[in-house]
Amino acid sequence: MVVVLRSDVAQEKIQHLISWLEEKQLIVREFQGQEQCVLGLIGNTAAIDIDMLRGLDIVESVAEMRDPFKAANRAIHPEDTVVTTLGGKGPAIGGGQFALIAGPCSVESRAQILAVAEGVKAAGANFFRGGAFKPRTSPYDFQGLGADGLALLLEVKKATGLPIVTELMDIRTIELFEDVDVIQVGARNTQNYDLLRELGKLNQPILLKRGLAGTIKELLMSAEYIMASGNENVILCERGIRTYESAYTRNTLDLSAIPVLKDLTHLPVVVDPSHGTGRADLVPSMALAAAAAGADGIMIEVHNDPARALSDGPQSLTPAEFHDVARRIFKVREAIGL
Ligand code: PEP
Ligand code: MN
Repeated sequence: MVVVLRSDVAQEKIQHLISWLEEKQLIVREFQGQEQCVLGLIGNTAAIDIDMLRGLDIVESVAEMRDPFKAANRAIHPEDTVVTTLGGKGPAIGGGQFALIAGPCSVESRAQILAVAEGVKAAGANFFRGGAFKPRTSPYDFQGLGADGLALLLEVKKATGLPIVTELMDIRTIELFEDVDVIQVGARNTQNYDLLRELGKLNQPILLKRGLAGTIKELLMSAEYIMASGNENVILCERGIRTYESAYTRNTLDLSAIPVLKDLTHLPVVVDPSHGTGRADLVPSMALAAAAAGADGIMIEVHNDPARALSDGPQSLTPAEFHDVARRIFKVREAIGL
């Protein structure tokens, strides 16, 4: 349920109403906008008399919220969420602030990631990505450098100042992620609800990928799991879904998910055209299309030697190719007034 309060209501009266609602076992999310305060009520709202609520002098309107996602719903948080990094001193994402996240699929060596990080930073990337724990379809493929890979990522962060985005696959490794700036939940773990609940107990931003066969609602419900446990710093990521097409693209990138999500939720939306297409030659056009459709960020896999990459080489750009697409992404944003 969404309760919009009249403007200029005294804080004391708002607190009084919140306490009363909490006594009814409801979770109350208070959103203080520029002009008005909105209260989002989560839980068994049947326990309160809606007409009585409407009749209160501090209440302007009351509306039911039918969507099953509540904390993520734009109705209770009309303004965009802005996710910050590095204690507020790093790049932010959402509310007009754009994240260009780039780096290899996997961390392979110090020399590799340092070279890629220097290249993508020079091209305008403001986040560095790289997988240390890799969810590979085959158990015989390279599984990532694990803890050593994370240590190398932190070296890159120190050397370049770029915040790090990397995937956590197993909650048992959580202590290793203390200095990671954005924790990625991969497509294969999007509906691992126990994992999401644990990540909800942290404060770190979570980049939540859409599941391989996940609907938009399922993605939002996964975000809800993280938020319901207390972590509001969720970034959604469209990375393509399984369709009947398999000959020419690895996944089908659902660009319509961008405006749909921007309408339904206040959370930032990032697009990953690398996994979304599986083809380096398709990445630039899909990245530009994502920027034009209003994505809050774009994540691109970049490798200094894609032909020898230990994972996802065919969809990886070289630093020079990334430089070119980054320049055009910024131009598209400027052209459409973002
Ligand atoms: C990745 O980002 O390298 C990755 C494994 O992504 P996804 O979970 O989307 O497949
Ligand atoms: Mn990858």
